[in-house]
This record gives sequence, structure tokens and C-alpha cells, in this order.
Amino acid sequence: MIVLHNMGVRSRMIALISAAILPFAGLIGAGIAYSYAEADRDARATVTYDAQLGAAKFSRVFLDAKVVLGTLRGMPPLQIQDRSRCDGFMQKVLASQPMFVTMGLIDAAGNIVCHNKLAATGLFGDHDLAVRMLKARADDLVVGRFMVGPVSKKPTVAVAMRLPNTASGQEISVFGSLNLDVFQEVAKAIAGNTNHTVALIDTASERVLVRWPNIAAFGTPFPNHPLIRGVALHPEGGTTFSVGFDDVPRFFGFAPVSDATGSSLALARGFPEQEAFSEVKSRSLWALIFSLSAFLVAIALATTIAYWTQLRPIRRLAQMSERIGDGDFSTPVSMERWQAMEFRGLATSLNKSADKLSLAHEAEQKTIESERRFRLLADNTADMITTVDNSGKRTFVSGASREMLGYEPDELVGQDPKNLVLKEDQRVVASFLEEIRTSAKGASEQYRVRHRDGTILWVEVNGRRMTDDSGYVFTMRNIAKRKTVEAQLEAANDQLSRLATTDELTGLNNRREFNRLVERESRQSYRDGSDLSMLFIDVDRFKAFNDVYGHPEGDRCLKEVAAAISKCLRRPGDLSARYGGEEFAVILPNTSADGAAARGDVIRQAVAALNLQHSAGEKGYVTISVGVATTTRRSQLPGAELLKRADEALYTAKAEGRDCVAQYQPQAASVSMADDRQHR
Ligand code: GH3
Ligand code: MG
Ligand code: MG
Repeated sequence: MIVLHNMGVRSRMIALISAAILPFAGLIGAGIAYSYAEADRDARATVTYDAQLGAAKFSRVFLDAKVVLGTLRGMPPLQIQDRSRCDGFMQKVLASQPMFVTMGLIDAAGNIVCHNKLAATGLFGDHDLAVRMLKARADDLVVGRFMVGPVSKKPTVAVAMRLPNTASGQEISVFGSLNLDVFQEVAKAIAGNTNHTVALIDTASERVLVRWPNIAAFGTPFPNHPLIRGVALHPEGGTTFSVGFDDVPRFFGFAPVSDATGSSLALARGFPEQEAFSEVKSRSLWALIFSLSAFLVAIALATTIAYWTQLRPIRRLAQMSERIGDGDFSTPVSMERWQAMEFRGLATSLNKSADKLSLAHEAEQKTIESERRFRLLADNTADMITTVDNSGKRTFVSGASREMLGYEPDELVGQDPKNLVLKEDQRVVASFLEEIRTSAKGASEQYRVRHRDGTILWVEVNGRRMTDDSGYVFTMRNIAKRKTVEAQLEAANDQLSRLATTDELTGLNNRREFNRLVERESRQSYRDGSDLSMLFIDVDRFKAFNDVYGHPEGDRCLKEVAAAISKCLRRPGDLSARYGGEEFAVILPNTSADGAAARGDVIRQAVAALNLQHSAGEKGYVTISVGVATTTRRSQLPGAELLKRADEALYTAKAEGRDCVAQYQPQAASVSMADDRQHR
């Protein structure tokens, strides 16, 4: 499983191809094995045939011996029991038959009864042969064992045939000891000019009678030699791999030597392995080379086809998927028109997905960017930006909260925005929030909140319902500074308006302010239907005062007169003003003409009481003249008219001698109170 796990598409394809080709490889292997076996069989057949051919040549020797002995059987010198005649005959025969080294007759007990060596007597060297002769049929050539002839002293193998029944009734056999040199020649002839080895083996006695090309002693014993045992296992002949008698491994073919009844002789013909199997080997090699090349070509072809039609498109698709995973939608996957339908379909849908994802990604990037910008903006704005959801909890707080309120944004998120508002301002805030809830335009309010360190600060908050109705957005600005400036401005304004409305020297209202107040009071009296009176006051002979005492002294005098006027005005609505130069005016709301005249006289007296020296004046001290005018419910005069009449009345007072009060008279001005006369 783990191995499978780590296998890529390429490895899997190779595995697949191998799995598909392997049975063919097996078939090819079987073919090679079959052809090898066939070649092997052919080689073995050839070798066996060569061995049989060789064996036949040895058989010829035995056949020849059989012919010779068979012929001798009927010869009279053998029939008649005449030893010397028989010996002589044998001697003659042997001379013409070089294939034998000795010849003679033996009886059933193995005694030599005739021999080419005259007077050779005693037991025959191959006693066993004599015993076997008893059982042999008349026509059999019985082959004996290897022995060293007791008479000839030569290594030999004897062959024998039974004589026909003799007159004496004795069992007599004619024998010949074969000349092994003949066998040697035969072995040499069999080998010819090849590099084969030839050996005539007696499997029963485990001896090698003759060998070629290594000529050694005839009849050398090789007990337990593997070749002899291999040959002994298959008396009918065959082939075997074995070491030869020269200890060189060879491929041997062997065959029994026929026409050598009762013997266990076989010929073994050794071939150099190289030669015997050269064809087998070359055939197998060619088959192997051919199969292997076919196999490799098949694999290469299959791999190439698999690569172009499977692996490459799969890899491309996989790479495309990977790119999509990494957020790279720029390069679409290309798929040749000849590729499998499924791959083309997959490529098309991947490209489509990439296009869609690309669009979505772009949109997302834009959102992220705008979010980033928004945060940047929110965090770098001194104003604290807050969003509140519909349940009334903060969902976002900008970084300005640190400086403004001393809280981290996270500490404020999730809380009720009212929690920092001062108790006294909670009602204001409640109605502010209500306004935002109900108005699409939003609202703005100023109230106080508590900083983390306990200090109280004024803030101006703009609130608005979000367009998607998901909540509210607020911007909070610290207006502590503005509040201070506002207060300062207010004070400055107060001062300014005071300056604008006040006479600098006396501190009374100035002329402009007086005109305004007159208008106001006249409207008020008009509304109320009440009386409104005005006093117009002028310092008597003031030019002369200045001339005598100087201008600065004149100013001081005016200040004292002004103060005296002010002191005489008791009611809250009474107003006094410096009208210009040494002229003063007084408004007395809700005051009748008589009341006003009385008040004017009080003022006149107060100024006189100051007793300011005025040597150039009539009285020797500073005096004033007062003109009085009144508008009633009936007359309802405008302010300007009232002023004009008061001035006229003043003129009358001057005319009547000064230091007195004069009422306005429609026809002609008259003095109501002539105090100056009383004074005088
Ligand atoms: P009358 O009794 O008729 O009023 O005589 P008068 O000298 O007061 O008459 P007039 O109105 O012609 O003179 C006013 C003088 O008051 C002129 C000027 O020298 C003086 N005066 C006006 N304003 C000031 C001021 O602010 N300070 C001083 N020291 N003198 C002023
Ligand atoms: Mg005057
Ligand atoms: Mg005057």
C-alpha cells in the first residue's frame, strides 16, 4: 500500500505496461526455452548418432572375430584330438590374423587344450569366460573380461565360440585374445581429425580398454568414475555431461558395442561442450536478443504512447489544478485536438473554472483592497469610526479609540456604545440614537464621554444608518479643543458686543445700541400697550467747561455725570446711554410722562448734587438740562419720533434757562418744572 502510495502516474503506467507485456515476455521465454530444448535434443541426437557410429566400428572388430572363430570351428584340426596338430594349425591361423594375439581351445573346466604357443598349458586366463561358454549358444561369440594374458603377458580381451559336438562329447570352445592395438586404431579412426575423444569402456569392470587421443595403458581401471556410471545407467546408449578420463568436462555420447554378446562394452565419444551446443547457444542467444529487443521496443513504444496520450495530458491537467490552487489563473491548459475526449473535456472545464475563479478572485482582491484602504483610512483618521449592529453592539472600532478613549479597539467591540456616555448625557444620546434610527439622513450630536483614565471629554458624533440596513456607522470626534475655543470665542464675542454697544468713556450704552434699544422697547410697549418715556439730557455750557478746565477734566466730568444718571435708574427695564458728546439719553419703559419728568428731575438734582465746579456756568457748578417725551397706548410713536420729541423738549429746557426738566408739548414746548428758578 505504501509503495502504491508513492507511485506517480508514470510509475503506474510503467507497471501497467509491464503487466501487459510480461505474459508475452513469458511466452517469448517459453519459446526460447523450447527452441533451446529442441536444439539440445538435436545436439544430443547428433552426439548419440556419432556414438552409435563409433560403436558400430568396434562391433565390426567383434564381427570379424566372430567370422574368424566361426570359420575355425568346423576345421578338422580342431575336431580331432591331436594336440600338436591343433597347436600348429593355430599358429598358422594366428599368423594371418593380426587382430588376435593368442588363439587356442579350452575345455569346460577352463583348461587350455590347444594353443598357438606350443605347449602352453594350464588354466585359461579368463576363467569366467570358460564357465560362461557352457551356457552359450552355438552361434554366440562370447566376449570375455579384460585381462593380462598369462601366456602372451599382454593386456587383452578374449572372445570365444563353442565348437560343434566333438566325438569325445567334451565341451570345447575356440578362443582368440583380441589385439587391443586394433581397438586403439579403431578409436583413432573414429576420432578422425576431429577434436573428439573416444573411449571403449567396460562398465562391468569399470575399465577403459582403449582411449583416444590420450593413449595410456590399455584397460586402466577408473573405479566410480562418473562417466562410467552414467554410461552404465543407460545400457541402450545416450548422452551425458561429465568429466572425461582426462578430467576435462565434456559432453559425451555413448552407445553399447553390439555383436559382443555378454560383454558390457560401450563406446563413449566426448565432444567439447562449446562445439556440441554452439548452435543451441547461438540460436538461443539470437532468440533472446530478438525477444529482448522486441520487448524493449514494445516497452519504449508503449511508454512513448502512454506519455503522449496519458501522462502528458494528466500532468498538464494536474499542473493546471495546482496553478488554480495557487491562485494563478493566467495560463490556461492547452490540450491537442487529438487527445482523448475526456482530457479535452477536462481541460475545457478547468479553463472555464479558472476564468470564473479569476473573476471571483479579482472581485475578492478588490474587496480586500477596499477593506485595506478602509482600515488604513479608519486607523489613520483622528476621528473614531465605529459600526454598530442592529442589536446595538459595536462590530468595528477604528484605531483612533486608543488616543481618544484610551481603549484598544478590541476592548470596545461587542459592547454597547452607550456605556461610555456620561449619565447626564444619556437622555441626549437616547434621542440622538432614536433620530438616527428614524431618519435616513442620519444625525449629529455633541455629548460627553468618559476616557479610560476617568477624564471627561466632549465629543461630536455623526451617526447614520448603513445603506444595507445591517446596522449603523458612527464617527466620533474629540471636540474638547473646539469647546474651549468656542468658550473663548463666546467670551470674545461678549466683549466685542459689549464694546460695540458700550461707550468707552462712561460705560453706558453707546448711541447705536441706544437706537436699537429704543426700537425694541417701542415695539414692546406697542405690544403691551404700555407707556414708554425718554429723557434727553445735555450738560449745560460744557464748551465753556472744556475751555476753562481743559478736555481731560471735561471727560472726568462726563464720567461722573454718567455715573450719577445710572444711580438714579432703579427699575430693571430702565436704560441709559451716552448719545454723543455731553448728551445722554434714558429710556424708561412702562413710565408715564409725569413719572418720567419726575425721574428726570431726580437725575437733574443728582448731577447738581455732585457740585462739580463750573466757574463759567450760570450756577458755578455743573448742571444739566433734561427733555422728556412719552409715547402712550394712544399715540404709539416710533422710536425715532420719540427721540426727536425728547430733543425738542431738551431744546425747550435750554431755552428756559437750563438746569431744568422740560416736557414735550405738541404746540409749544413748556417747562413743567422750573427748578433752576427755585435753585436761584
Ligand atoms: P449749552 O448750555 O447750550 O448746551 O452750551 P454748550 O457749551 O454745552 O453747547 P454746545 O453743545 O455747543 O457745546 C458742546 C461742547 O461740549 C462742545 C465740546 O467742547 C464739548 N464736548 C463735547 N463732547 C465732549 C467730550 O467728550 N469731552 C469733553 N471734555 N468735551 C466735550
Ligand atoms: Mg450739547
Ligand atoms: Mg451742552
